[in-house]
Amino acid sequence: MKRITKEKIIYQFSPDIIPVEKINSGEIVFFESNDCFGHQIQDEATLCTEIDFSQVNPATGPVFVEGAERGDLLKVKIFDIALDQAGFCVTVPGEGALGERVHKATTRMIRFQEGFFRFRGLRIPARPMVGVIGVAPLEGEFPTGSPWKHGGNMDTSDITEGSIVYFPVNQKGALLALGDCHGVMGDGEVCVSGCEMNAEVTVKIDLIKNVSISWPIVETREHTMIIVSGDSVDNALKEATDQVVTLLEKSLKISWDDAYILASLAVDLKVSQIVDPKKTVRAAIPKTIISTNKLLDL
Ligand code: CA
Ligand code: CA
Repeated sequence: MKRITKEKIIYQFSPDIIPVEKINSGEIVFFESNDCFGHQIQDEATLCTEIDFSQVNPATGPVFVEGAERGDLLKVKIFDIALDQAGFCVTVPGEGALGERVHKATTRMIRFQEGFFRFRGLRIPARPMVGVIGVAPLEGEFPTGSPWKHGGNMDTSDITEGSIVYFPVNQKGALLALGDCHGVMGDGEVCVSGCEMNAEVTVKIDLIKNVSISWPIVETREHTMIIVSGDSVDNALKEATDQVVTLLEKSLKISWDDAYILASLAVDLKVSQIVDPKKTVRAAIPKTIISTNKLLDL
């Protein structure tokens, strides 16, 4: 099993990022993932307003997948997210859903014990997830803190153990990198951060030739979810709906109008995060309607 160590990091996804490892389709890869603060917050006295933002959101990688070319699909199965012993959740004045009410920055350490996080005497069940995961984009440079069609900072709680994330391959080798794990985060990530943690992420990477998708897709046990980002939640929801209806129309060979009605009956729109410069949502299509393989023509 190949191990990508935590000092091998990028701060932006661009077409020409330099691979740190080469693998073949079907290999299992172990990523050492850094917390989103790049280890700059180690106690509650350190505030997010005091850290160096050029070192925020490091993503470990990228990994070059032999044979991957533009127009292919990268399939990343998340086997395991092994969490550190504690994480940090922060607030920042002006940031998050209620930023105007935050008058001073706050840092809270949240300890992880036996499957739960401890906060103010409460026990919150862990829901580990990978916040940043993506591939080289078709063009342009995207800071690892931004989500877009290549993936990136999607902060989607369903990118978790057992899920499969599919990415469009835009560049030779695909160039996969990941980081910014959360031990737990509610949909929306309302205060601007999840429980930000170091973690070790084990994935299996497979290449599927000649299948293209427009946005990243997450397959969970019960759903196929299209993950879409936009300048506002409204824009993202509209684009996600458009994507779903087009996919249902094509894969089920039904009219656009029937696909639209089916989406209204069966597809759940969910919010991933509302606090990054681009907002992320997902549209969840139940597998009881159509399997992921049939939907994506795999
Ligand atoms: Ca994030
Ligand atoms: Ca984060």
